[in-house]
Amino acid sequence: MKIGSTLYFDHQATTPTDERVLAAMRPYYDERFGNPHSADHALGWEAARATEAAASKIAMMLGADADEIVFTSGATESNNLALIGAAYAAKNGSRDRILVSATEHKSILALTRFLREQLDYKIEILPANWEGKVDVEYFKKKIDDDVLIVSTIYVNNEIGSINSINEIGDICRSNGVLFHCDGAQSPIALDLKDIATSVDLFSLSGHKMYGPKGIGALFAHRDIQDRITPIIHGGGQQGQLRSGTLPTPLCVGMGAAADIISNGSMEDERLELRSLRDLFVRSLQQLNWPIFLNGPSLADRHPGNANIRFEGFSAHDILAALQPKLAASTGSACTTGIPEPSHVLTAIGLSQDQAEASVRFSIGRQTQEEHVDEAVALIKTVLERLSGAGLSEAV
Ligand code: PMP
Repeated sequence: MKIGSTLYFDHQATTPTDERVLAAMRPYYDERFGNPHSADHALGWEAARATEAAASKIAMMLGADADEIVFTSGATESNNLALIGAAYAAKNGSRDRILVSATEHKSILALTRFLREQLDYKIEILPANWEGKVDVEYFKKKIDDDVLIVSTIYVNNEIGSINSINEIGDICRSNGVLFHCDGAQSPIALDLKDIATSVDLFSLSGHKMYGPKGIGALFAHRDIQDRITPIIHGGGQQGQLRSGTLPTPLCVGMGAAADIISNGSMEDERLELRSLRDLFVRSLQQLNWPIFLNGPSLADRHPGNANIRFEGFSAHDILAALQPKLAASTGSACTTGIPEPSHVLTAIGLSQDQAEASVRFSIGRQTQEEHVDEAVALIKTVLERLSGAGLSEAV
């Protein structure tokens, strides 16, 4: 997709809001503005019906029921509610270990520090193999009856790896361990219609699935809801699990985005993404530069993801030189003012230099072949310029 003169290759950072989603949301900013928790009048009932319908659509995407969907502000909050909620509810019990995978999003990794320092849980990090997947054999050795909850990402946000969720879920269940999965990147990548049978808790984000920003959801299986202590207290909305007035337009938008995924032509969309992404990677690899794909094979990852290592180059230099013509990103965090190499790339065995030479490109619903060709040509020019060749060529 192209925004003005910028090619947008950063759909895993955020997706644009789908036009159909915006159209569905609009009336709830206008005349249907009622508070969905106003039980005494028709405007409130109308808004409540809209949020319930939205929860049903999200549930449908997961093979769940509407009363198992808790709206949150995004996947960060869903992850917090799942892990802190479970940890508070079981505090001082016999299960005092929590296992999370090494390639989790920062919102899980940062959370584990809180769980260790404030709630006294023992945190263990499950190593990833070179493809960025949890090593299931190692996991089997680590799980025991003192583990409270396991949290693994489904589709990785940097390298697109896909974890064996059914297998991990089965192992958790047979050990009486809660299983949370961060599914924020999964709705575009995979069919989720049976996922509710494999997990206890599943996090989603509106803005990673062509819905609005500021809304997310946590699927909490009916049987385990009483094992989650709320982290936001107030009017007791959403079955006490997450208080606060529901943002009707955002809920409706996320519901519409889920509906498009469940009932649209996602199979075709994924095939199209895969074919454009493969073309992008093949075209880059045909350039006369040391260009490598990080993580799993193309066939075994998110269909829109390509994490590319430009050996000998700095990813920051490449991205800066591409501005404002191409938007992509590094996986590195800059929380302390000092950029750190991506923890995902180092977890799969890359050196710091290799991680710092890597760029995540992610294409989406409106990407076309001509965008791919244009992006490859721009990258070629930038590599030539940064390496000192073709200095006169401006990008
Ligand atoms: N988990 C994953 C895997 C993500 O990719 C993201 C967004 N980068 C999040 C959690 C956080 O989502 P949100 O922006 O909705 O808080």
